[in-house]
Amino acid sequence: MKRVISIDLGGTNLKAALVDQEANILRRLTVPTNKMGRTALIEQLAGVMKKLGQDVEIEAVGIGTPGFVNREAGRVLLATNLSEWTGTDVEDELHRIISLPIVVENDANVAALGEAWVGAGRNLDSFFMITLGTGVGGAIFARSTGIWNGASYRGGEVGHAILYPGGKPCACGQQGCVEQYLSGRSIEATFEQLAGKRLRCPEIFAAAAVGHEQATPIVNRFCSDLAVLLTSLNNIFDPAGFIIGGGLVHLRQFWWAKVQQAFQTQCMHGEAVALLPATTGNSAGLLGAAYLALGLKREHLDESNS
Ligand SMILES: [Zn+2]
Repeated sequence: MKRVISIDLGGTNLKAALVDQEANILRRLTVPTNKMGRTALIEQLAGVMKKLGQDVEIEAVGIGTPGFVNREAGRVLLATNLSEWTGTDVEDELHRIISLPIVVENDANVAALGEAWVGAGRNLDSFFMITLGTGVGGAIFARSTGIWNGASYRGGEVGHAILYPGGKPCACGQQGCVEQYLSGRSIEATFEQLAGKRLRCPEIFAAAAVGHEQATPIVNRFCSDLAVLLTSLNNIFDPAGFIIGGGLVHLRQFWWAKVQQAFQTQCMHGEAVALLPATTGNSAGLLGAAYLALGLKREHLDESNS
């Protein structure tokens, strides 16, 4: 049984696991990464690998990280949520300490691989994954070719597709981005603006369900906006399915049916495409990074055999 180490790196902590080729998580640990500089982060990563790999044979290491990632080079090109990390040659730096094969990929892409391997996408030939969390992320997956990375490793960045031309300014420099309307953060900010008090998304969605004056129109607009986005994406990509993940999926009893109905009514081919909630939850990143690490090892074996 092959085993790999997988790492899901975030701005506040790092989740790591020992995973076998059947997607069983054998060991798991979480350590803080808060405000860590580049060198400390590399040391933290290496320390976690050594700890998880104790007494077992490890094939490879897969790492999911925030930011745009050149997977071939193992380099993080730009990481706005983990700014110290921008420009880091993760693979090279770790190879000074650890001699295992290492593969690095963007966190949203890695989550999509987790879903493709053992989650909602396991029976789909292709899908578009949308992550509705604090921000909005995305990934494009096809069974035959894997993740679509794009020419400059920015493929699938659906959070910065424009939903409202000339709309709310976004941190990326554009205006009217999806992330300014469909993220948990934006919903909470809009509610605060209208209602004059701060509530979290679970409370806002629950309030909307019982006709709250400010929450109801916000959630209705969230549903129609998401349906518009799905319609555009479906007409561009024609995927076999959409997988929707992220924190807002846990509140889907308040919005899923409405979005599905609006999407299927307005999209010219909407009834043919599967609309599925992500199923691997918090483990998506760990499983996807493991899948990637297992694939990397196979590629290496194939090369050495030929
Ligand atoms: Zn943007």
